[in-house]
Amino acid sequence: FLLMILRRLMRPLGVLAAATEQITAGKLGEPVLINGADEVGRLGEAFERMRVRVRSQLDALSLLLQASLSVASSLNLDQSLPSILEGALGVTDAEGARLLLIPFDGRHDKLQTYVAGVGAADMRAFDTDVLNLIETEGELIAIENVARARTVLNVGSEPHALQAIIALPLQHEANLLGVLWLGYTVPHHFSREETDLLTTLAGQAAVAVANARLFEASEGGRQQLEAILAATPDAVIVTDSRLQLLLLNPAAEDLFELEGEHIMGRRINEIIHQPQLAVALRASDERASAHEIKLPDGRTFSASTSSILRHDGGVIGRLAVLRDVTDFKQLDRQKTDAIAAVSHDLRNPLSLMHGYATMLPMVGKLNARQLDFSEKIVAGVEHMSTLIEDVLDLHRIESTPGSEWENCQIEILLKHEVEEMRSAAVAKGIQLECATVTGIKHVSGDESLLRRAIRHLLDNGLCYTPAGGSVQARVEMRAEDVVLAVADNGVGISHADQDRLFERFYRVRGQQEGESGGSGLGLAFVKSISERHGGRVWLESRLGQGSTFFLSLPAQSGGGEN
Ligand code: ADP
Repeated sequence: FLLMILRRLMRPLGVLAAATEQITAGKLGEPVLINGADEVGRLGEAFERMRVRVRSQLDALSLLLQASLSVASSLNLDQSLPSILEGALGVTDAEGARLLLIPFDGRHDKLQTYVAGVGAADMRAFDTDVLNLIETEGELIAIENVARARTVLNVGSEPHALQAIIALPLQHEANLLGVLWLGYTVPHHFSREETDLLTTLAGQAAVAVANARLFEASEGGRQQLEAILAATPDAVIVTDSRLQLLLLNPAAEDLFELEGEHIMGRRINEIIHQPQLAVALRASDERASAHEIKLPDGRTFSASTSSILRHDGGVIGRLAVLRDVTDFKQLDRQKTDAIAAVSHDLRNPLSLMHGYATMLPMVGKLNARQLDFSEKIVAGVEHMSTLIEDVLDLHRIESTPGSEWENCQIEILLKHEVEEMRSAAVAKGIQLECATVTGIKHVSGDESLLRRAIRHLLDNGLCYTPAGGSVQARVEMRAEDVVLAVADNGVGISHADQDRLFERFYRVRGQQEGESGGSGLGLAFVKSISERHGGRVWLESRLGQGSTFFLSLPAQSGGGEN
């Protein structure tokens, strides 16, 4: 009898032991079949329930894993969303699953739809109601018995198979992207596990949709920019902050005859042999700085450069846009030639006028008014003659090739010019200072022209600064450039005027009280002289606060220094 009892106990225990081993080995497919009303039978049933539960949890886990894999591996919604819908059907008893995506413009008549399951087509009639419900509620909606939910769902009088539904919003950063909803043909109780799982799947679907839309938007923007860059006739060059090439548009490729991937990341002066371009790209963001680039084929380009800034203001790169200004240059040259020719022809009549006006008092006695008039005529003619000499000088500088160039020390030239102007500064009550540092390299150039440029800048500083102000000149090295700066705390120049200041004859209106007698040619001289030396001129100024003019000249490579 004992043996019989033992055998009846041992056999189910053996089955339980075998089932435990199966479960431990991850094999959850085989049911545990132990029946009976005794403790062993109940243990067997509990074991079987545990197996079913563990299996469904593992199924749910692998479904979630698959869903996140498909979301991570593809930006194509046609690939990721169907597998999420199939998965949702696989872990529920639903007859159909529908996923509705609201387009960018929010219009419900253009919903993008993904479906799975045999009942999905019949569920279509409820799409709008479900979407409206989710839009107003903003959270998961579970209707366990549709027949009793007529107030929220327009089920109509037609017979239909739908008995229970669950709808979940696809939400991303407070934006409702769409709805995932499942339909059941029998009333259904939604367990916590089921709603949690479906919520996680809806979350995965929302991530997939948000990623795809983000990609679409950035790709659209990229294509738009690419099209604009390809269509613009101006050459566009982008480098990083160390002047290594990041981007060239087709116009720039044509201009510099460059092509291919291998040029990307290389330093700009290794691939484009235009020192002026590197100078333009290196220059920091001053306004009104003019960069002209002359190509060996005779074409002239105007380069405008700027920095590409991060949100925090840090520089991540440099941008240069080059516009072909050859035609304008030609017109400008013709205009200058015409002005020079007219000025030249005016010289003789002017010297005649000057001669006769000075002789007037010699040929007969003039009364006081007549004498005053003749003096005014002489002064006017002299002013015109100076102007004409300036125009002809400027023309000479621009059209004749460089003569004897020598090693010049800008700081010495500056000191000299400052001393020349000292008495004028004292007379006007302006403090004139000059600061130089050691280590300034030599510049190769025409000394008299460079002196003239420095003189114009100092002269302007004194001229446009009221008594009691100060003019400070300094020379320093910036990379391989010698930079001269003349700063005053005078009247300053508005932004609008700054853009045109270096044009010939340009003078700021209303600034000169009683007219200072300038010709508007001084800064044109400075610009021509700087360009002639391969340098640049620019300014920083604020109206009412003063101006600083900069003249930058390339230092002699390997040349001496002070
Ligand atoms: P001008 O003979 O009139 O001085 P410039 O070409 O030297 O001719 O200067 C052009 C204009 O630029 C001047 O008329 C003046 O309005 C303005 N300008 C030049 N330098 C300064 C300065 N340091 N401060 C304020 N305005 C200036």
